[in-house]
Amino acid sequence: MMAQFFEIKGINPGYLLFYRMGDFYELFFEDAEIAAAALGITLTKRGKHLDQDIPMCGVPVHAAQDYLKKLIALGHRVAVCEQVEDPAEAKKRGSKSVVKRDVVRLVTPGTLTEDDLLPKGANNFLASLAVLRHGENEYALAWADISTGELRSADIKAEALADELARIDPAELILTGQTLDQLNQTHRLPPNLKSRATLRDGEHFDSEMGAQALRETFADGSVDPTAFSRPARAALGALIGYIGETQKAAGVFLRAPEVETTSAHMRIDLATRHSLELLTTNRGETKGALRHTIDMTVTAPGARLLTHRLAAPLVDAGAINDRLDAVSALLDHSLERTILRAGLKSTPDLARALTRLSLERGGPRDLLAIGKAVACAHQLAGELEKIALLPPNLQNLAGELAASPADLAQLLETALRDEVPLLIRDGGFVREGYDTELDTQRQLGSESRKVIAQLQADLIEATGVRALKIKHNNVLGFFVEVPAAHGATLLEEPHKQVFIHRQTLANAMRFTTGELADLEGKIARANDVATEIELAVFALLRQKVLDAAEPLQKAADGLAELDLYCALAHLAAERNFCRPRIDDGLAFEIDGGRHPVVETMLSDQGASFVANDCDLSPPPENGGGQLWLITGPNMGGKSTFLRQNALIAILAQMGSFVPASAAHIGVIDRVFSRVGASDDIAQGRSTFMVEMVETAAILERATRRSLVILDEIGRGTATFDGLSIAWACVEALHETTGCRALFATHYHELTALSQSLARVSNHTMKVREYKGDVIFLHEVGPGAADRSYGIQVARLAGLPAPVLDRARQVLDLLEKSGHGTKGAVLDDLPLFAHTPAAPQLRANPIDDMVDAVRPDDMTPREALEWIYALKKAA
Ligand code: ADP
Repeated sequence: MMAQFFEIKGINPGYLLFYRMGDFYELFFEDAEIAAAALGITLTKRGKHLDQDIPMCGVPVHAAQDYLKKLIALGHRVAVCEQVEDPAEAKKRGSKSVVKRDVVRLVTPGTLTEDDLLPKGANNFLASLAVLRHGENEYALAWADISTGELRSADIKAEALADELARIDPAELILTGQTLDQLNQTHRLPPNLKSRATLRDGEHFDSEMGAQALRETFADGSVDPTAFSRPARAALGALIGYIGETQKAAGVFLRAPEVETTSAHMRIDLATRHSLELLTTNRGETKGALRHTIDMTVTAPGARLLTHRLAAPLVDAGAINDRLDAVSALLDHSLERTILRAGLKSTPDLARALTRLSLERGGPRDLLAIGKAVACAHQLAGELEKIALLPPNLQNLAGELAASPADLAQLLETALRDEVPLLIRDGGFVREGYDTELDTQRQLGSESRKVIAQLQADLIEATGVRALKIKHNNVLGFFVEVPAAHGATLLEEPHKQVFIHRQTLANAMRFTTGELADLEGKIARANDVATEIELAVFALLRQKVLDAAEPLQKAADGLAELDLYCALAHLAAERNFCRPRIDDGLAFEIDGGRHPVVETMLSDQGASFVANDCDLSPPPENGGGQLWLITGPNMGGKSTFLRQNALIAILAQMGSFVPASAAHIGVIDRVFSRVGASDDIAQGRSTFMVEMVETAAILERATRRSLVILDEIGRGTATFDGLSIAWACVEALHETTGCRALFATHYHELTALSQSLARVSNHTMKVREYKGDVIFLHEVGPGAADRSYGIQVARLAGLPAPVLDRARQVLDLLEKSGHGTKGAVLDDLPLFAHTPAAPQLRANPIDDMVDAVRPDDMTPREALEWIYALKKAA
């Protein structure tokens, strides 16, 4: 057995080998040590190898999924090795013969198909990256979700690669070592993808082989390999090859590859995705991110589509408006929407059921799910058509739903019981009346059971043992059991003739009889025949489903889309979102905009959100977009305001209504959002370096159509440097890029730019001072902030009173010496060259004390102590 183990292990390096032994998967040697530690299960030993104990651990087959899930989540890969022959066969070859085993599947993060291993509400993509060998940094990416059959490819220019990888966010990326090195050197691999790379030899990325793989996979000729670029063929070939290798014999059902063009989407780079917290928060949680807040879908495919669209908003105004029309119609028809949503809620996940069936990992429940989903699709199409003047997107959708194979649904409904088991081998899923022979055999089985009940009554009568029972277990089959005290009776004449002794237990004795054995044989035969018939029925139904795969997948798409439109309409109704006006101009005019996540959070706490306008549209006489400089104290709401405008743009272009009272947006090609001084220590780059690399990327890539949001850029360095950089950035955005931009800053000096740059204007977060405290109004108004209110904010944050007092002294001094907020340039002050006791600062300590004292804030006792201190200082 160990020889077999080593052979299989040798062919699958880098995988933990789940080696099937009866009801367990066992792991040996290093695999066992890794798995035991990762799973928290006991590490034991089994046998010896080269005189050393062999470490071993095992997981029961029925619970294997949970363990697989943990291992995959921890970044391990698993090879599942099954017994591929009946142990009885092996015995026939000789008593020492080992059962044949083979790896039936390699489980990797990108090739999962089980529902509970897959992410909820998102796709699980496996991607493959190829490089055009002779070209200048041209790439092609192919990606598939094996669990749904989606397959896509795109040719990508080097500068767009990182953004596209961030958008697709694959669970696993296959590429050559050379490509990986190249990406690392050029910083084109999003950091979070580094651990998701699977290296493959260059030979797998061959465009000729790719073309061949496409022809073989789509043998009906539906895909023309020459329609793809050379690198795209190579990427697709490597992808299909890897899927084949990991899934072994199981036929993965892939849909004809869709070609995506980078220019069809709003470009959002990784840093922007993080900064805006679109799909996950900066802490990696889904709760608190935009997606989670706006997700009102009621099905998993709908949730996946939401993720997909949010990650890739459109740039074609026509297509965006088509989507908005669909949402709008469903918003207006709230009754129909409620009915549709209720119907969708009970619609199963068609795509994933279909995939499991095609991979031979499906069971009766998947068949039932497909039948039910198709029935739902027809019903929903009917509901949808009740809406008068259905916009084109909904009309298409209704057509797709109505075209799903009703006869198949009918067949599945007639063939399957209402409740079916998960596994085929459990049997009992075919409905009565579907197969006459099956009914006959089942009848035989159940009649025999009745006969057994009668036999038990007869035997009680004959023996006079009232406690006699006919029971069944897997070892003995059917048997007669009597309490030990009555055992002797049955061993004597006349019963001895009838009862054959089988087993004596502490308090019972077990027998069989000729008649019982006969009946048992009949039942077993009937069961065997019934099982065989059910297996055949399953195979037939499965085939019928697979034959209809294409219309089924279209219906699955339609259901997901309907769910999404209904969800967006519901969102608009619930949260008071409005329909944005989208066109090809350069307008960006938001009335009463809100931050959807902060608003929800506040309303959960019973607080309300202050809506704010924003207008970055180019002035009539000038082509470029406006740049708003926003000043105001910390906690004033600057970041919230900046981000809400970016989120509104993204929501609008994905085809959603937006949190505002009105919005007019000329299609935005790219959104950039940067927050200064964000740490990236894990990457080994200093804060300031990261900030500058990212700012450089914006200045290089932003176009006139872009929306740029910069939050406190330049803060990561000394004041003069930072101010100068921020200054230069504003100038460049205004003069060269001419994009629509929001720029929040602490450098009040920057506000002077509004005088020299025509489209730069100053805005500030309003605050009110009340008894020395600052009250944030969260309202954006024209003008620049007069002060920073830093000390008041620090006080709110609980900085100790002596530190606050000292800070006030220093501030007063600075202001007096002409370095107030207008010229807050600290470097040239004597401040940091001297300790607090330095004479310059405390020329007259009594003056300082008197300046700093705030009688209104003092308790009588503090006042008294202050007087003592004053006396001492004098
Ligand atoms: P800043 O960037 O100026 O430091 P933030 O944007 O982080 O300020 O906002 C600080 C807090 O103020 C937020 O967490 C939120 O609770 C609240 N806030 C911000 N904007 C608003 C608003 N428009 N209405 C109500 N509360 C707001």
